[in-house]
Amino acid sequence: MRDSAGLAPDFPTLSLDYAPRHQGNGPGFEALAGLALRLRRLGRIDKGLTEDGEDGLLSPENELKEARVRKGDAQEIRRLNRRAILAHLRRGPLTRADLSRLTGLAKSAVSRLVDELLKEGLLEEGTLTSPPLGRPGTLLHLRPGARFALGAEIGVEGTVLLALDWRGEVLWAREWAHPKEAGPEERFARLLQEALPQAHGALGLGFTLPGVVVGNKLLYAPNLGWRDLDLNPYLASFPLPALAENDAKASALSEVFFHGEENLAYLVLSTGLGVGVVSEGRLLRGTNGAAGEVGHWLGPEERPCACGRKGCLETELGLGALLRHHRALGGEAEGLEALLAKAQAGNPSAQAALAHLGEHLGKFLANLAVAYDPARVVVGGKAAELFPFLEAPLRRALAEHAFLETHRALPVQPSSYGHLAAAVGGASLFLARFFELGGLWAESPRRNGGRYEEVALGTRHGLGA
Ligand SMILES: [Zn+2]
Repeated sequence: MRDSAGLAPDFPTLSLDYAPRHQGNGPGFEALAGLALRLRRLGRIDKGLTEDGEDGLLSPENELKEARVRKGDAQEIRRLNRRAILAHLRRGPLTRADLSRLTGLAKSAVSRLVDELLKEGLLEEGTLTSPPLGRPGTLLHLRPGARFALGAEIGVEGTVLLALDWRGEVLWAREWAHPKEAGPEERFARLLQEALPQAHGALGLGFTLPGVVVGNKLLYAPNLGWRDLDLNPYLASFPLPALAENDAKASALSEVFFHGEENLAYLVLSTGLGVGVVSEGRLLRGTNGAAGEVGHWLGPEERPCACGRKGCLETELGLGALLRHHRALGGEAEGLEALLAKAQAGNPSAQAALAHLGEHLGKFLANLAVAYDPARVVVGGKAAELFPFLEAPLRRALAEHAFLETHRALPVQPSSYGHLAAAVGGASLFLARFFELGGLWAESPRRNGGRYEEVALGTRHGLGA
């Protein structure tokens, strides 16, 4: 039996959802509607998908196209809906009605998915709210400690290991020093030993290295003196999924993951100098993973660099140069901590050396602004702790040398995680993946879509969603 529009009797349910948007779309609409109907009968389309989702993924047009391509992958649709709910709850507590309004999902669909998330222990119900308009509702929020990941930074002088809650809180952190000549065997053995008792329940371990990482290979870390290191044996030695990433890139991803930005440069200034750039929502890696190794930009000077060449930028703009300059001013300080303590005590040569570094850094940021045009620059690494002394001269130099008027006021901030930032970045590789999967993390994440690095390493758009 057909009705006057030539549609099947059970079509009205569907037309309520689809017809207003598709009127005037011609004969194609019927084919689409028919497809949607078939998928719904097969249980392959969630009714909640019939309204626009905020990210556009859930709009009926897109969803129908996607559904056709994927032949109604119910699991994928559920993932997208759960991802949307979790993404909104990351910004703060909301009621079911809020979630329905924000995601465009039907209230029944929200309720069902929320029940699922409550049962999995991901959400918690809080207080009852009574808005001036509308019905009272219970606030839902992400349950603290429901999921966490481990992150580690293998630095030149030592290693930082921490656990990061899925809401961005550092649960604990520990650090240990290495002799400079310690090789990968020794450093990874210690990391394994420290991580092992903490691995239970963690989504994974993301660790960073101060060098060029591509896939599971470290191509070159000049300040460690490591070259062409196959990371697979080390990755496999951990009792949980593990990933490696460059320190500046992981730090940039963590900022994007927590703040949802599209254009950002994260500067790591420690023994070396590097930058992690997220441009238009994507992490810039380049062909060999070397994009952002700005510490090895060649300049006119002739000072030897750890990379074996002469005149690299980090020989002039780095902590080694800071200590050298301080000595040239007649200052005496064993290391960075001593120099910082002197500056805090009002020592003029220590303060002058830091002001010189700040000025140099400001000029460098004027260059970075024309290279990558970020919306915000984060200063991390050891330089984050020096920032109070660097800031004023840095801003003066940036204002003086900026190419565009707007670059003069480019926001520059120290990393909110301080010297833990790279390790936080490592852990956020896994947390980002968890959210991307809508919390549908199988016992083995490798089985769940397989390629978590696609998102974790920023090769897919929209990481910060
Ligand atoms: Zn170099």
